[in-house]
Amino acid sequence: MRLLVVEDDIRVAAALSSVLRRHGFHVELAHTAGDALDRLDTDPDVILLDLGLPDHDGFELCGRIRAVRDVPVIMVTARSDVRSRIHGLHLGADDYVVKPYDLGELIARIHVVSRRRSAAQGRGADRAGPPAGVLIAGRVHLDPQRRAVTVDGVPANLTRKEFDLLTVLAREPGVVFRREQIISEVWNTSWQGNQRTLEVHVASLRAKLKVPGVIETVRGVGYRIAACDGPPAGRPALGPVR
Ligand code: CA
Repeated sequence: MRLLVVEDDIRVAAALSSVLRRHGFHVELAHTAGDALDRLDTDPDVILLDLGLPDHDGFELCGRIRAVRDVPVIMVTARSDVRSRIHGLHLGADDYVVKPYDLGELIARIHVVSRRRSAAQGRGADRAGPPAGVLIAGRVHLDPQRRAVTVDGVPANLTRKEFDLLTVLAREPGVVFRREQIISEVWNTSWQGNQRTLEVHVASLRAKLKVPGVIETVRGVGYRIAACDGPPAGRPALGPVR
């Protein structure tokens, strides 16, 4: 199993990776968020992510990783408070380990998230549908690995934030994402004062995609992307909310 260990403390990283290698893992190390993004190309099976990094907040990095790769992320941090934990899980972390942790427990958790992910992928493979890693919402094709979006096969020229925003919504077509959550994931910041920014990005995204109704506004709650097979007749006004 290939692990990507993101840890800025070089001594901690070296000690941890030597233990993990002794347990049979193939370990890649990254000491900064920039490093970590570069090393996604090594196609890790699980990422261990330290939240306190010098160049970027680990939460932001987690959001970025989840936008481009479907790889389990275990956050490793000294921050033991519940709010950090909830925030991390909202950003798509699969698990959360607080320092100091027991190595046996960490290894067990690595195996659990990896097994859970393979099982989910196995279920996905049984379904007819788009190839793995490509999310489809109506006429819009989104390729998270290549960060490419096409509409009816024609590339849409999205900015980074527009792409990230679409990726969040496309994760679960038909499900309403709250504005607070979208802002937290795309801009890594809190709700206060950022409502307008979100509205502007949704408007420009709609203008670029030119697919009527692909991004629906759910008044007072947030946004959702149309389900792949279009809105069923008589659907309840709200539906599931994330
Ligand atoms: Ca650190």
